[in-house]
This record gives sequence, C-alpha cells and structure tokens, in this order.
Amino acid sequence: MFPFFSYPCIMFFFFFFFCVSRPCFPARTPPGLSTVINVDAHNSTWQDFVRFLHAGKGSHVSGMSELKRYFNRFGYLPIPGTDFNDVFDTQFESAVVLYQKNLGLPVTGKLDTDTISAIMSPRCGMSDDASHALHRTRHFAYFNGKPRWLHGSRKTPMTLKYAFSPYHMIDYLSPSDIRAVFRRAFSRWESVIPVNFTETGNYQSANIRIGFYRGDHGDGEPFDGVLGVLAHAFSPENGRLHLDAAETWTINFKSDKSKVAIDLESVATHEIGHVLGLAHTRVKEAIMYPSLSPRTKKVDLKIDDVEGVQALYGSNPNFKFSSLMASKNSFNQASHGLDRKFSMLWTIIFLAPTLLCLFLRS
Ligand SMILES: [Zn+2]
Ligand SMILES: [Zn+2]
Repeated sequence: MFPFFSYPCIMFFFFFFFCVSRPCFPARTPPGLSTVINVDAHNSTWQDFVRFLHAGKGSHVSGMSELKRYFNRFGYLPIPGTDFNDVFDTQFESAVVLYQKNLGLPVTGKLDTDTISAIMSPRCGMSDDASHALHRTRHFAYFNGKPRWLHGSRKTPMTLKYAFSPYHMIDYLSPSDIRAVFRRAFSRWESVIPVNFTETGNYQSANIRIGFYRGDHGDGEPFDGVLGVLAHAFSPENGRLHLDAAETWTINFKSDKSKVAIDLESVATHEIGHVLGLAHTRVKEAIMYPSLSPRTKKVDLKIDDVEGVQALYGSNPNFKFSSLMASKNSFNQASHGLDRKFSMLWTIIFLAPTLLCLFLRS
C-alpha cells in the first residue's frame, strides 16, 4: 500500500497517462506521408517533387522548371518564350496561389506541405484551367462554352450509348467485372439527371467510347505509367473516356493488396462527370475533385456534383435532394457515434490509474 500522493503512485499515473493518451494536437503530417508511395524511380511520376518543399518567392532550386511544366500542363502557367527556368518568380507565385485556391488548400503562395502533397497525389489528366470554369456559382465548374450533350434533340430522358474498345482493355480484370463497375458508375449520374446510359456492342457508333491506353496513344494527352495521371475524358459531345493501362486497376481492395492499387469505379465515376460536361471542383469530398489517392474508394456523388450536373441537364424527376442529405446525415451520425464511443474509452483509460491509486490507498 502506498499513499495516493506518494512518488510511485504519481509516477505510475503520469507514465500510464502519457503512454495511452491521444495527443490533443497531432503532429502535422510530414510531406507526402499520406500520399507518397514508394515505387520504383522510373514510374514514380511526381514523387521527387518533395525536394521543392518550403520553396517560396526568390528561391532557386535545381529542377524547378520540371515543376513549372507540371503547372503548365494543368492550366496554371502559360508556355514561356524560352524554356522554363528554375527561379521561383512572381508569375510562379501567382500560379501556386491559384493552384491552392482551386484545390481547396490554405493559400500561402509557397510550396508548403499541403501543396507539395497535393502535387504529388495521383490525379485526373484533365486541366484545372480556370478559364474553363466560366460558371463558378458554387464550386463546380464547366468546360469553356459550357458544353452539354444535346444528342440531336432535347427529348427527355435522353439516351446515350456507351461501349468498350474491342482492342484496348486490360486482361487481369474480367470483362464482366469491368462492365459491372461502369454500369454502377453510370447509374449514379443517371439517378440525378434525365439521361439514360445503355451499353452497346457497336464501339464505332457509341456516344461514349471507353478504353485503356498506354503512353502516347494519339490524342495529344500521353499517359505516364504507374500513378501520376490516372485517366482523362473529353468534354461533350466528344465521348472519349481513356484510362491509363499502366495503373493497377482494382475492383476490390481486400483481394488486391498492391499499395498503388487504384479503384476503377471511383475513377470511372469521375471521368463520366467530364463526359457529361463537368470540369474540376474545389470541393475535396466531391467526385469531381481532381486527385485520388491509391487504395481509396470514392464513388458517391456529393451535393456539389449533383448541383453542377443538374444545372446542365435538369433533375431526374425521381431524384430528391433530401435523400442525398439523409445519407450525409446518417454518415455524420455514425461518425459522431464512433467519436462518442472513443471518448468514453479514453475517459475510462484516463480514470483507471486514478481509481487504482484510490483503491490502493484505502
Ligand atoms: Zn478530372
Ligand atoms: Zn487519351
């Protein structure tokens, strides 16, 4: 028996507390910890951009020109008269600020942790070019000229036919699994707008043509191997939807343990948004946000996606916003329920040594 305020008891209390307590202010995630995937150097497209961390206006870092080409590719920097240099100049600072605004990041104008992590994340190959975002009433955006499918008439519901390339597919997922993934992805958009999607076996005549391509495949937007750019699609009424054949596409993370696995359904749902006329949004939770981490499933349309696509096509008469809100609320309630359970657990763990000391004292 030792008294409550005795040295061993107090030491035991503090030792136990520090061992089990959750930090109130978790350490800031080091750059890329959540997104850096250690893959072979030859296919880690943007993984070495971490060397630009903390660079700001006036910095001169060897290889910065490569980062400027990235910003040019995604619509943030015009092509200069000569090649890009390695100086962090005023124009590049403006590009970084615009990038941070478009990606919903803290606007610092510097290559801080959040910005470098976002740059290194695998993403869609479509540009974020703000000039394409003519219609930014909320966060969603459209392509230049706000194109949408008219398909010869304004009959509703409009029917768009989609087909898979007979030559450009992947062989490690079965055709029926790929078809089921796209069926589900199309049905999510179908449920909110008066547009029906039906599969056809006639690839040439299909409105939407889907295929997996490798490297330079003839449309001026070459793919880049594992991670980096995952896919791209063209605005209405072009209908091309291309996926990078070099990715490790998966339909089930339980059976596919690859650390660079990319969820096919998440990317399919995003690219169909482009096919319909949506550009990239600033809302991180939305389907139309430009990046997606490996081993992440993100397939549910958010309010931002729905409002954007309905402003182009109108609403499916059977769709109710309340159902979207209900699913959101049930998710929040579930999360809060979990939080409460964890709070109780930590309270018990915190109180345990105190009660033990009191018991030993008595
Ligand atoms: Zn995209
Ligand atoms: Zn392409």
